[in-house]
Amino acid sequence: MSTGQLTIDLDAIVANWRALDAKTAGETAAVVKADAYGLGMARVARALARAGVRTFCVAVAEEGATLREALGPGPAIHVFSGHMAGDADMIRDMDLMPMINSVDQLIRHLEAAPLARFGIQLDTGMNRLGMEPPEWAAVREMALAAHPLLIMSHLACADEPDHPMNAQQLAAFTEMTEGLNVPRSLAATGGILLGEAFHFDLCRPGVGLYGGLPFAEATAVASLDLPVIQCRDLTEGETVGYGNTFTARKPTRIATVSSGYADGIIRAMGPKTILYADGVPCPVAGRISMDSISVDITEMTSDPKALRLLGPDQTVDDLAKNSGTIGYEILTSLGARYARRYSGG
Ligand SMILES: *Cc1c(COP(=O)(O)O)cnc(C)c1O
Repeated sequence: MSTGQLTIDLDAIVANWRALDAKTAGETAAVVKADAYGLGMARVARALARAGVRTFCVAVAEEGATLREALGPGPAIHVFSGHMAGDADMIRDMDLMPMINSVDQLIRHLEAAPLARFGIQLDTGMNRLGMEPPEWAAVREMALAAHPLLIMSHLACADEPDHPMNAQQLAAFTEMTEGLNVPRSLAATGGILLGEAFHFDLCRPGVGLYGGLPFAEATAVASLDLPVIQCRDLTEGETVGYGNTFTARKPTRIATVSSGYADGIIRAMGPKTILYADGVPCPVAGRISMDSISVDITEMTSDPKALRLLGPDQTVDDLAKNSGTIGYEILTSLGARYARRYSGG
């Protein structure tokens, strides 16, 4: 029941990790949360582990448990949401390392899994996760006595290099962590590109590995080909799709491809989006449906078997721009119905 073929270039992911790693002196982890941004956590993480990645990051403990089964013992697995109620067994049995976000989490962790490794997440202004300065000051002694293996924070505006928030957060992080003799981590993809001052001991890129902005030099990773279900000829004046939003101005040939907004092809991208067949641009005709898209293939000399939506000609960030969102959302929306095929690795 595949609605399309998603091809994922594992060598490109490894090349992007190496390129980001080369920009920093310290260790570079790999963020593989949300099924490696929709591309398949197990395959992606195993390829990266073979290439030398020693630390992986996920959002929640369940993802960490799945990742541990895929990777086996050895690599560190950091959990950004920390130690949530009910997770103690999973954290211990799967050797996960929660990033403790609050006093409540710290107490829960020290009581329930006192021997399990942990890190500390500090809030330096994003106000999303992590302990704030007064909270940190109150529990710092207790936390340090239990030997955290990392102290981290996250930047809110790292994709805007000139934003004053970057320097503010760097100053706050430095003030909260200076002289503690615990490894530190502040930068994700955007922070790596901000320069050395933001790198500390461990960087945590996600989107850059998968070919997305703000890592503009990234190698393209994913391509998506949608099979043609049928083709038809329209005479001038005929319309296509829901709401009759496309009208043929001349004799027109339309291909209907399998996939739609139920597969993460956001309906709003329709009017600006083009599919490609052998390099020939073929615009979307009318509205994107739940499971199908009509495409104007008049310029083709023969009917294509499939049309390409995503690839070097049209990146995740192009599709994001066409639909008023970010590349991250395009990637993580990639549908479960696609056949995922991996090359390289
Ligand atoms: C998602 C996330 C990352 C990775 O961010 P990218 O912008 O995808 O590189 C790193 N750290 C934290 C805390 C995150 O939530």
